[in-house]
Amino acid sequence: SGLSAKERAMVERRQRLLGPAYRLFYEHPVHLVRGEGAWLFDADGNRYLDCYNNVASMGHAHPRVVEAIARQAALLNTHTRYLHETVLDYAEALLASFPASLGPNSGHVMFTCTGSEANDLALRIARAHTGGEGIVVTSLAYHGVTASLAELSPSLGEGMPLGRHVATAPPPDAYRGGPDMPARFAADVAAAFAGLARHGIRPCALLVDTMFTSDGVFPDPAGFLAGAVDAARAAGALFIADEVQPGFGRTGAMWGFQRHGVEPDIVTMGKPMGNGHPLAGLVIRPELLERFGGQVRYFNTFGGNPVSAAAGLAVLQVLREEGLAENAVAVGAHLTDGLRALAARHAIIGDVRGAGLSIGCELVLDRTTKEPATAETARLVNALRERRILISASGPGANTLKIRPPLCLTREQADMLIGTMDELLAG
Ligand code: PMP
Repeated sequence: SGLSAKERAMVERRQRLLGPAYRLFYEHPVHLVRGEGAWLFDADGNRYLDCYNNVASMGHAHPRVVEAIARQAALLNTHTRYLHETVLDYAEALLASFPASLGPNSGHVMFTCTGSEANDLALRIARAHTGGEGIVVTSLAYHGVTASLAELSPSLGEGMPLGRHVATAPPPDAYRGGPDMPARFAADVAAAFAGLARHGIRPCALLVDTMFTSDGVFPDPAGFLAGAVDAARAAGALFIADEVQPGFGRTGAMWGFQRHGVEPDIVTMGKPMGNGHPLAGLVIRPELLERFGGQVRYFNTFGGNPVSAAAGLAVLQVLREEGLAENAVAVGAHLTDGLRALAARHAIIGDVRGAGLSIGCELVLDRTTKEPATAETARLVNALRERRILISASGPGANTLKIRPPLCLTREQADMLIGTMDELLAG
C-alpha cells in the first residue's frame, strides 16, 4: 500500500521493538519529523496539513512555548515539595479562566502529567466525597488508559470489560434523536444511576467529555447537557467535566462546558494544556477536596514541576495574545459552512456539526435510514492522507470525520480541506 522499502523496514522495526498493542494511523503510515503551525513535514520534506492534532492546539512547536520550556529546563526542574513561584503563577492564571464557583478566589488546582491521571484523581476525590462508586459515562466514551479508566471507557471495545460500578447512557445524538434528545439524554442518565442503585451501587459521578468527541462529536443544541447534570445531581452524584479534548479554546469558549451553561464540580484537562509537553490536571471546588485532602497525601513526581508550569503559562499567553479561541470561532464557522456547501453536492454527507474547531462530519449511505458509510469514511481518510491532509474518524460506525486542527488554522488551510474533500467525493 504505497510503502517504500525504508518505510516498510521502519514499520517492521517498530513492531519488533514495541510489540503488538500499538496502532499506526493510515494504510500508508506517516513519518513526521517537524511541525510548524498547522503544517507537518515528513522525512522527505513533504508538507502535510494537520486537521487532527488536538494537542498542539497553539500550533506545532510554537516558539513561545518551546522557549519557555527551554528557559526553565536550563534553570531548574524539581517537584511540588519545594516552593516555586511559577507553579503558583500558573495556578492563578489557570483558575482565572474559570467561572466564579471554580475561579481564582475559590477553586483549587491539582497537577498531573496525563489526562488519564487527572481523571483517575478526580474519581478518587469523588469517591472520597460521595462515599459512592457508581459512574455513568456515554456508550462510546474514552476517559483514559489506567486500570480505573479503561474499565469506564467503552470505546476501547469488547476486549476491555466495563467495571461493575459503571453504567452507560446512549450518546446525545441530535442527528438521530431529534428535538426530544436533551430530555431523553437526561432520562437516560437518571435511568443509568437508578440501574446502579438497584445493584446496591451508590452514586459517585457523571463523567462526560463535554463535546462527546469519541461518541461522534455532539455539540448541539447548546445547553442540552444541563438536564443530564441535574439528573446526576438529583441522584446524588457529582458532575465531572472531562475537558481533555474541548478545553483551552477549541470550541471557541475556553471550556466546553460553558456551551451548556453548567458549572461542573470537577474539571479535568490535559492534551493542549502544555501544547505537547505532558501537562494535565484538574480544577475543583474546595469543599469537595476536604475529605480526600484530609485522608491522603498527594504527590506526583512530575506533575506540577516548574518546566511544565512554564509551558502551561506560555500556552495561556499564546492563546490570549494570538486570539486563538476567536480564530477557532471564525475559521470553524468558515469550515462548517464549507462542509455544509459540500453536503449540497455530495449525498454521502449526512450531517455537519461542530463548535469552533471541533467539528464532526458524518457520512451515511442513505440520508433517510442514516446507515453509516463506514468503509467509505475509511477510504476518504486514507485518500486524504495520500493528498497530505491528516484527519480521522469516530462514532459507533467510525463514519464521523473528526476535524480538530491546531487552533491557528487559516481560512486558506480550511479551504484546502474542503476543496480536496470535494474532489475526492466526486471521484
Ligand atoms: N479524556 C479524554 C476525553 C480523552 O480524549 C483522552 C485522551 N484521548 C483522555 C481523557 C486521556 O488522556 P491521556 O491520553 O493524556 O491520558
